[in-house]
Amino acid sequence: MRIPFIAGNWKMFKTKMEALEFADEFKKLYGDTDVKTAICAPFTALETLVEAFRDTNIGVGAQNVHFEEEGAFTGEISVSMLKEIGVDYCIVGHSERREYFGETDETVNLKLKKLLRDSDIIPILCVGENLAQREAGKEQDIVINQLTADFAGLTHEEAAKVVIAYEPIWAIGTGKTATPEQAEEMCALIRNTVEKLYDEDTCDKVIIQYGGSVKPENATEIMNMDEIDGALVGGASLIPSKFIEIINF
Ligand code: PEP
Repeated sequence: MRIPFIAGNWKMFKTKMEALEFADEFKKLYGDTDVKTAICAPFTALETLVEAFRDTNIGVGAQNVHFEEEGAFTGEISVSMLKEIGVDYCIVGHSERREYFGETDETVNLKLKKLLRDSDIIPILCVGENLAQREAGKEQDIVINQLTADFAGLTHEEAAKVVIAYEPIWAIGTGKTATPEQAEEMCALIRNTVEKLYDEDTCDKVIIQYGGSVKPENATEIMNMDEIDGALVGGASLIPSKFIEIINF
């Protein structure tokens, strides 16, 4: 039985003070829920959020990490640094990192291995096609290729721990959402690909999220699809009342 998992991705929004204000309001609104929740925040707000959510079951995630243990990598953050703060999750391979910061399937693969082998931090792996690729009917090939490269060398046990977020790039921050049927089709393809790469038991365990302009108005429809176990939410996770509505879909 897979537990629904809804995570927020704040991107480069919110100072420490703003994160604290969010946490105070969010905790007041956060009721009893069977849904797992996390906020993936900028590095500077992580410690504040871990502290603010200490007595709750709200998780905290980073949005990136380096794959080396330490070294001359100016501006980077290591898995040990995240571990020390008490972070639960880490987004890996978000399309904005792939597009603007040179993230490749090779570095994504190294990051997944580092997180899974040297920490209990759960990776949230983002995959998805851009508009041109969808218009050319290549979305399935793109996602299968990403998954195959990103999971290369991971054991069955490691693969089962990865949360996979299907995020069509054309739906991120654009207000355009994939239809529930389009999202379902791609999430089913992802589960099927994990089955082919591993086995049925592994693909049954993997949590698959949809991400791309999820908001209170469309969360129920998306969350009710069979193969969609959760959501990765950008813009709408910045406002406590909106994010709560999505969690209580
Ligand atoms: C995201 O940042 O992963 C995302 C899906 O953003 P938005 O919900 O704003 O489209």
